[in-house]
Amino acid sequence: MKFPVHKPYIIAKYHNDPIYYGRHRGIDVCRYKNGKYISFPIFAPEAGKVIEKTWHNEGGNILLIDHGDGLQSWMAHFEKIYIRKGSLVNKGETLGEAGNTTSKEWLAKYGIKYMDIHLHWHCYLNGVVVDPLKYVNSLTPIQMLIQKHVDKTSKFYKDLVNGNVALGFDKDKVKPYIIRDSKKKYYKNFLELLSSEAALWVSGDDADKIPNK
Ligand SMILES: [Zn+2]
Repeated sequence: MKFPVHKPYIIAKYHNDPIYYGRHRGIDVCRYKNGKYISFPIFAPEAGKVIEKTWHNEGGNILLIDHGDGLQSWMAHFEKIYIRKGSLVNKGETLGEAGNTTSKEWLAKYGIKYMDIHLHWHCYLNGVVVDPLKYVNSLTPIQMLIQKHVDKTSKFYKDLVNGNVALGFDKDKVKPYIIRDSKKKYYKNFLELLSSEAALWVSGDDADKIPNK
């Protein structure tokens, strides 16, 4: 599969750590401009058939695409969807535009007024939820950085791979490499990160380097 967003920021990884960040069975992807969340086109990560196009209480406008071989993509919070249920899509075809659609009930449950614009994406393999990044052929920004800089034998690397650390941005949402660990301690740059046991935040510049095939 190919990453479904150009120049993405990954704001939340797939992980199963309910203590610090809550369970998150999927990845959240956004784009920022001038410190604001902006909408962006979402592309089909792989060819497939649209088997669901509907309203979901948490996911808002969602798509479920069957890629064959037991693999499916569930994508949520669309503002607009350009394709119909039952249509066949090509890999890389534009599916719609990212939004922040969800239900009032869901917002009320978490006591928030609105959701930031982002794509939530998870996959199913034979009906079981799996991390979509495991099926992306080209490297994501974080994977590129890790490949380049992180010692594969370090505890930090293991934490990243196991999802014990989270991703995000600084409060202004513009600075690159702003990182924090599970105790919400902030770090100024990537080098500082590498000498710590912290999470990684990825900049737009690095996102540019994704080899989107
Ligand atoms: Zn999500």
